[in-house]
Amino acid sequence: MLSITQGSATPVWRNWGGTQSAAPSLVVTPHDTAELVEVITRARSDGRTVKPAGAGHSFSGIGVPGDILVDLSAMRGLIEADADRSRVTLRGGTHLFEIPELLAPHRLAMANLGDVDRQTITGATSTGTHGTGLRFGGISTQVVGATIVTGTGAVRTIGEDDPDLPAVALGLGALGVVVDLTLACVPAFYMRAEELPVSADDAIDGFLERVHAHDHHEFYWFPHTNCALAKTNTRLGPIAEVSGPGRVRRWIDDELLSNKLYHGMCEIGRRIPSAVPTIAQVAGRALSARTYTDTSTRVFISSRTVRFREMEYAVELDAIPDVLHEIRTMIDRRRYRVSFPIEVRAAAADDLMLSTASGGARGYVAVHRYHRDNPADAAAYFADVEAIMVEHRGRPHWGKMHTRDAEYLRGVYPRFDEFLSVRDRFDPDRMFTNPYLDRVLGPTAV
Ligand SMILES: Cc1cc2nc3c(=O)[nH]c(=O)nc-3n(C[C@H](O)[C@H](O)[C@H](O)COP(=O)(O)OP(=O)(O)OC[C@H]3O[C@@H](n4cnc5c(N)ncnc54)[C@H](O)[C@@H]3O)c2cc1C
Repeated sequence: MLSITQGSATPVWRNWGGTQSAAPSLVVTPHDTAELVEVITRARSDGRTVKPAGAGHSFSGIGVPGDILVDLSAMRGLIEADADRSRVTLRGGTHLFEIPELLAPHRLAMANLGDVDRQTITGATSTGTHGTGLRFGGISTQVVGATIVTGTGAVRTIGEDDPDLPAVALGLGALGVVVDLTLACVPAFYMRAEELPVSADDAIDGFLERVHAHDHHEFYWFPHTNCALAKTNTRLGPIAEVSGPGRVRRWIDDELLSNKLYHGMCEIGRRIPSAVPTIAQVAGRALSARTYTDTSTRVFISSRTVRFREMEYAVELDAIPDVLHEIRTMIDRRRYRVSFPIEVRAAAADDLMLSTASGGARGYVAVHRYHRDNPADAAAYFADVEAIMVEHRGRPHWGKMHTRDAEYLRGVYPRFDEFLSVRDRFDPDRMFTNPYLDRVLGPTAV
């Protein structure tokens, strides 16, 4: 039965990065599509807005609820798997971390992933979550079908050839509530990971060559230093021997050094900003090489327990070295003290209407600030980075911090107006809007 929480019992909604919070008047937890249709139909006749909740891992205001928050925690799991065609259909509320176990009996895996697996599959696809690798698109490119309840209460089944799929597969939560998604998977595979400390000069200037040469390449550069960590993953077959540091060693590297010790360093940097360059030098010099082989998911996914705020822009792939040199100069000139590394990745071209890689391969530059850093200083840093990205006609990640509006976005997305016309059909009354979507898509029909 539909579960409803309202009034003072309704919990305050907050996102992971602590950048957004809201108090919806109602939280509903539907168990199936029929209950969801009932919620949407009633909300429509009452003139209330509806927001499907993911895992709250977006930094931007995209997930902020208004009147009614739809909690999809009772709509999780595998609906069906077709191992011969490598396809699976998952309920919309399924978290990424639940998927490997659901796919294992069918010997399937997701083709590519981002850094973490706390998100829901529909939250991740709705914002264009991506990993790295020039032969691989973001997670939304794996979507080959969906069922969505639109703002009119209609249940639409969208197949692979449906002209609305390129909108629904990456819909910003603006088109309706996605109740299930069908993904094109790949046979389960192992990967060999190589992490190598390199100079920042080498990482930046060698990025284009490395990203073309390897399945998955990314690097982290520590501002104020010439230190970077290059990560390269090579896809292996369905069977490989797990090798490299054992569980204890990986716990020491990933949890103790990468998270716990790093947290302490961020705290010192927050209290004594002038110490940040020295801390960054120490952290940069402590980077060490390691190689290991494991299942694809264990290699793709890291644990992130130090909270931060993030802005990420996609730019033309070839512009990446220039963008990074400009950011480096800007950080020095403006004397920012940045304790978080800058992450650089790439993704294959796709044809999804609002994908950051729509129409051409893209490089990605993500900048972060520790969540307890001085807010005004962090905002000024993000603004200066954003100005560089905008000069390069960059496309902001929909789930990360940015200040772009519909006018700018129409200029960098050739299929922007096509998406708006799908929105007019799917959500004519703007039931799924919120202030963020009003800003990036515009509040009214074109
Ligand atoms: C620690 C951390 C690491 C990250 N790493 C990466 C990374 O490697 N690569 C990357 O690209 N991004 C990354 N991100 C960003 C993150 O992947 C995206 O912001 C993602 O959208 C978060 O998913 P979520 O489930 O938390 O969705 P939320 O943030 O809760 O929601 C996002 C949007 O999806 C909508 N939505 C959710 N469920 C549904 C549904 N069933 N139907 C329709 N709309 C729905 C929401 O309404 C909202 O509009 C990271 C974020 C964090 C905090």
